[in-house]
Amino acid sequence: MAVPQNKVTRSRRNMRRAHDSLTPGNPQECPNCGELKRPHHVCGACGHYADREVVTADTVDLDDDAA
Ligand SMILES: [Zn+2]
Repeated sequence: MAVPQNKVTRSRRNMRRAHDSLTPGNPQECPNCGELKRPHHVCGACGHYADREVVTADTVDLDDDAA
């Protein structure tokens, strides 16, 4: 099994992890209902996209655990 030749110090480990943070999403308000939604995606609350209804709200099922 490969074994690291040198100990990675706290400093070097933390320098490596400095780039590990996740960037936040960019939620935008739905122009129809005002709910926060992902840009360029159908609104999960009302089913609208670009000011028109593309799916009825009761068929929108973005949550996997929703019944
Ligand atoms: Zn909406």
